[in-house]
Amino acid sequence: MGIHAPGLDAARFAFFALYTLQHRGQEAAGIATCHQGTAHIHKGQGLVPTVFNEDNLSTLKGEFGIGHTRYSTTGGSGLRNAQPQVIETLDGPLGVAHNGNLVNAHILRRQLLERGVGLQTSSDTEVMVHLLTAASGDWMNRIKALMTQAEGAFALTILTRDAVYGVRDPWGFRPLVIGRFDGGHVLASESCAFSAIGAEFVQEVEPGEIVRLDANGVHIEKGAVPKQRAFCTFEEIYFSRPDSIHDGSLVHSTRQKLGRELAREAPVKADLVVPVPDSGTPHAVGFAQESGIPYTEGLIKNRYVGRTFIEPTQHVREAGVRMKFNPLGDNLFGKRVVMVDDSIVRGTTSGPLVQMMREAGATEVHVRVACPAITDPCYMGVDMASRDELIAGHRSVEEIRAHIGADSLAFLSIEAMMRGLEADDGYCNACFTGEYPFESERFVQLELKPKEQFANVWGD
Ligand code: SF4
Repeated sequence: MGIHAPGLDAARFAFFALYTLQHRGQEAAGIATCHQGTAHIHKGQGLVPTVFNEDNLSTLKGEFGIGHTRYSTTGGSGLRNAQPQVIETLDGPLGVAHNGNLVNAHILRRQLLERGVGLQTSSDTEVMVHLLTAASGDWMNRIKALMTQAEGAFALTILTRDAVYGVRDPWGFRPLVIGRFDGGHVLASESCAFSAIGAEFVQEVEPGEIVRLDANGVHIEKGAVPKQRAFCTFEEIYFSRPDSIHDGSLVHSTRQKLGRELAREAPVKADLVVPVPDSGTPHAVGFAQESGIPYTEGLIKNRYVGRTFIEPTQHVREAGVRMKFNPLGDNLFGKRVVMVDDSIVRGTTSGPLVQMMREAGATEVHVRVACPAITDPCYMGVDMASRDELIAGHRSVEEIRAHIGADSLAFLSIEAMMRGLEADDGYCNACFTGEYPFESERFVQLELKPKEQFANVWGD
């Protein structure tokens, strides 16, 4: 996120905005501000309320600020890679907060090292910091130069001496929106951040656009020629908060539409529709509405256990599932259940949940998934690093059904998903299709796992 709060401390707003964006990253959090040309920064590992307190927030002076919650894709999850990354330049402080993942980071990194630039982290964000520093002209021109070199997903907020910039890559993989509040403006990955700070939604940053927030208000420029739009479908299905707005539609409503499509495409005789909370809930509501099968809670989620999918190791993920859910036996006993989930990535959650429902007395457990099978890795900022880790990477639907122990299993088709999204194109569906929105020559290099491409002295 980024903010210009004239006459106020931007960090206070940033803290509350980051709190609402916590779902986008739980490994580390940070805020950087600028006051009269002096930069202030605090960042640490863990959740936003763990990292920040009154003492450290009060040191973050200035009306310009950027903030970040980290979820690692390129580079490890250690403190070294926490963001924002801030350096000193001839033109004052430069801070960058990045959501996404560059597919050519390994090439750009190598070029920087060959030019004698030393790197302190293993993240692709630092690469962009140095490209911005090395470019010539004012910050707007430097950002435009960066946009010609960086390939992949990058929604950025950038802090300088007297402005905050927002940048969205020419494909528009990751969301970025502009809000307004009394006297100031704010940029955030999702509009859900606005209500926490009393801001209202103004508009989305379009693919290829640069936004500058400064003493003159908001200024928007085209930074790069937009490519074929490729907004991440997974933002709609899982990643974004349901109370955010993408493309003018509430994410919760979109998910209900996907659930209705699923009920039409893969009907099943059952007594109850049970969501996998919380991310499967709106899809299950849609499934129940369309099928006429009663919607009931059948799993209680411990809300104090983080998202299992985005924690960095498989071991932590598997332990997390058992801590995270408990079945409601009275609701499930003797019932044929349709368990609706938003997606199945590694399959570490689905099998234990089916088992739990059976142990609680469900006579049948049918699994319905509100997106297609995920067969291919994402290189654009969602951590599904290798095909081998994906349950659908090398298995048929029937093999997955047997693996998770369900009575039946169905995934939403691409066609039905696009109907639910009310779009013919404009979305990235690469993890469902293996068709990435980049030139194939570039993509051959990505046959390597990102971590293998990205060998570095930091070992992560
Ligand atoms: S590959 Fe999947 S997760 Fe990655 S950007 Fe595309 S739709 Fe999103």
